[in-house]
This record gives sequence, C-alpha cells and structure tokens, in this order.
Amino acid sequence: MTLIIDCHGHYTTAPEAHTAWREAQVAAYRSGQLTPAYPDISDDDIRDTIEKNQLKLLRERGADLTIFSPRASTMAPHVGDEAVSLEWARRCNDLIARVVGLYPQTFVGVCMLPQSPKADLAGSIAELERCVNELGFIGCNLNSDPGGGHFQHPPLTDRYWYPFYEKMVELDVPAMIHVSGSCNHALHATGAYYIAADTIAFMQLIEGDLFKDFPTLRLIIPHGGGAVPYHWGRYRGLADMLKKPALASHLMNNVFFDTCVYHQPGVDLLAKVIDSKNILFGSEMVGAVRGIDPETGFYFDDTKRYVDALDVPADQKHAIFEGNARRVFPRLDAILKAQGR
Ligand SMILES: [Zn+2]
Repeated sequence: MTLIIDCHGHYTTAPEAHTAWREAQVAAYRSGQLTPAYPDISDDDIRDTIEKNQLKLLRERGADLTIFSPRASTMAPHVGDEAVSLEWARRCNDLIARVVGLYPQTFVGVCMLPQSPKADLAGSIAELERCVNELGFIGCNLNSDPGGGHFQHPPLTDRYWYPFYEKMVELDVPAMIHVSGSCNHALHATGAYYIAADTIAFMQLIEGDLFKDFPTLRLIIPHGGGAVPYHWGRYRGLADMLKKPALASHLMNNVFFDTCVYHQPGVDLLAKVIDSKNILFGSEMVGAVRGIDPETGFYFDDTKRYVDALDVPADQKHAIFEGNARRVFPRLDAILKAQGR
C-alpha cells in the first residue's frame, strides 16, 4: 500500500476576500494609507474553495495528500516593501494553516516567506520559525529571485542565503526553490520564468560548493527540474570542466526534482535520467496548466497518470510517490506516523 503524496500544491483558489484584501493592501501602500483590516473568512468559505477544486481533483485522480503552500504567482515579493511582504506572508500562511486544520488527513502546510528585494533574510527566518513551530508546517518555498524576473540576487550558493539555510538545517525542513510572478515582460511567468529559474538554480548549485557547508540541506527544484534532466549531459560535462565532483556526489544527495512535467514522454525522460531517489511526485494542481490535453483526453497536470505508467520497479514507484517525500520532509513523516499512516 503506497500513500500518494503530492509534494507541490498551491492554494490558487483562495477565497475572494483574501485576494481582494491583498489588492487593497497594495493600493494602501502605494497611496501612503493605512492597511485595511483583514476580512473575516469563514470555515465554510474555505471548504467551498477546497472541496470544489483541489479536494475534488485529488480524489478523482487517486492521490492521498498534498503538501500545500500559498499561491506562488501572487507571493510577489517585489511588490511593496518588506513590511508589506511580511503581513501578506503571514496572512497567506495562516490561511494555509486553516486549510490544514480543516483537512488534516489531506493537506500539510508549507510556507511562503516575506522576502523583499532589498531586505536581508531575518524576516524570512522568523516567519519560517513561526510556521514550523507554531503552525506545524513541514517546509518552505524559497524564492531565488525576489526581484521578479531580473535575476539580480546573489546565487543560491552565496553567503547571503546562509543564515536562512542554518535555520532550515536546525528545523530539519527542506525548501522548494520557487519564484513568483514575473515583472519582466520578456518572461512569461509559468512558461518561461519558472522553467528558467529552475534551470538557473541547478547551475548555480553546480558552480558552488553549498552542500560541503550544509551536508544535510535539502532543496527541491520544481517543474521537473526545469531543463536540467533533458540537458543532463551538459550539466555533467560542465561539472567536469569546472573541476567539480560528479553530480551524484556533488548535488544529488541534496537536490530533488518533482514530476510537474505535463506529458508522458517528459516524465519518462525524467525517470530514465534521474535516479528515482531524487524524484518526488508532484502535480502543482490546480495551477499553471489547467486544461485537458486533446491528444489524451486527460488533464495535462494529472501527473499521477504519467508516473503510474512508468516502466520502473515497484519499489522505485513507491519511493517517488511516498518514500522520498517522507525522507525529504521528516516532519511529514512524523505527522503521518502520529496519524497511524
Ligand atoms: Zn508551484
């Protein structure tokens, strides 16, 4: 019996009042007014948005549990200042905690961070601690480009990020490297910016020696690892040219890819190139690509179907669906064990 754990879901269907408050918050910041009061959102409002969407699709597709975080495209750390980001992050994370409270068997929380282009990571460290220790979250989404599409932040191997990694290691939580909305008109958010950021993150990790300093740090690169698996030979060759160890020891004890690749040949390639111990089942549903594939008649983001169809041994499939998630998210494993699962 394998639990089907989707490591990548966002609350893209959050109640309208929550989204409207964000718009009012940003408008107030821009006009120098006080932030409006946060609206009352009832449990029924939340149930309504979850049961018609994520929960319905989860059940239809046969998944058991989603690792759930605030909507990525609206994290928008480039909007407003650090105080704006902090209040927005807290509201979003609190809303995730309410979803988890209503459906503790089906959702587990991952937080967004109150990053801001000119800020250090002190606020993000505090929010991570709050979410893990007070809300019971099991990980975070770390934005490698808080400027929103101009890539002006230091690489992920830079000491700028170290205080945050130290806290992650202390709390024993992983991060999914996940950018947000694009404010660069040359970069479509989910089609270009996300996939580019994923690929860039992996190359940054090749160039540095981050896991020498943090041997237990764990990072998930979403969307199938961007272009990395397809270009695996290029990255192995670059590691060799840069006099780095082979990728298996240089990065692949610490870096994981999800299965948010929206067609069978892509998931086949992922599983052929990348060791199954480094692959976590994910769908990013309801998210970037919401339609039905006319070639198959099934939703593009019904990624369980592609993993089910993989020609790999049963133990590897179990690792992709369940085992790896329990290993990468030890706090998830503890929650599941406490639930007798
Ligand atoms: Zn995502």
